[in-house]
Amino acid sequence: NIDPLNICALDIAAGEGARILPFAAGIEDALFEHDGQITKREIRAMTLSALSPRHGELLWDIGAGSGSIGIEWMLADPSLKTIAIEQSVERAARIARNASAFGVPHLAVVEGVAPGALRGLPAPDAIFLGGGGSEPGVIEAALAALKPGGRLVANAVTLEMEAMLICEHAKRGGFLTRIEISRAGALGDMSGWRPAMPVTQWRWTK
Ligand code: SAH
Repeated sequence: NIDPLNICALDIAAGEGARILPFAAGIEDALFEHDGQITKREIRAMTLSALSPRHGELLWDIGAGSGSIGIEWMLADPSLKTIAIEQSVERAARIARNASAFGVPHLAVVEGVAPGALRGLPAPDAIFLGGGGSEPGVIEAALAALKPGGRLVANAVTLEMEAMLICEHAKRGGFLTRIEISRAGALGDMSGWRPAMPVTQWRWTK
């Protein structure tokens, strides 16, 4: 006696732990296996929007962490491809596990340190820079590899990376956005806003 239009009932019918995936970007953080280094749901949704996936395109997810950005890129359309570049052996293995769990096992994982690890990879239509951006040569290598019309989106939480993005914006233009979100949480027996670290996002089209 489950009402097929009742989402809660459907959720229960699908069984404990079932993943009901939405069509829009911004999947719950908890559905990804991660160690805390993950682009939070709200920021991820805005980042996917800025990356603007189009039919058949390839994304480089540099400093891919849990792989959440590259996975959501591929979920937007079956024609989309991702190469995730990650320096941590442990996280690279986790990216592959997450990709399989989300039904995109063909996501390519390159375990290595950018910019060296970027050499020889097929040219991307879009690049997400979520880690390693303040290391020498990474932004330059990313910008050089990008196809004409391609988008680069870089998120900074550290002052070092933010300073870099402010400088790139002054030099090359594009859009600089500051994203600040707070989530309601417990505060004693009341509740209050728990701010996440502010993210500075630079978006640039080649
Ligand atoms: N967007 C990711 C989180 C990124 S955390 C997610 O949603 O899961 C930043 C990641 O960048 C870390 O995993 C770190 O190991 C990686 N990283 C930092 N510098 C790097 C470099 N030079 N090359 C490759 N990976 C790098």
